[in-house]
Amino acid sequence: MSLPAVKCAYCKQVEVVRRSEFYPFCSKRCKMLDLGGWVNEDYRIPGPPGISSDTEPEEPAADFEDSSDTN
Ligand SMILES: [Zn+2]
Repeated sequence: MSLPAVKCAYCKQVEVVRRSEFYPFCSKRCKMLDLGGWVNEDYRIPGPPGISSDTEPEEPAADFEDSSDTN
């Protein structure tokens, strides 16, 4: 009747029950680390920091009705 003990798929140190939320991992941490370590790298927002979205650079209208005057 006893189910075989399953060790965590990542750290392989902690036994995990099949009813576990993070099966086959022992914890959410091991699950996330096994999925690619997004906590350290992929979680970062791409782009240089310090730039607010309300000051987005707009292209200057350099060619506004300038060609109609030089004719
Ligand atoms: Zn683990």
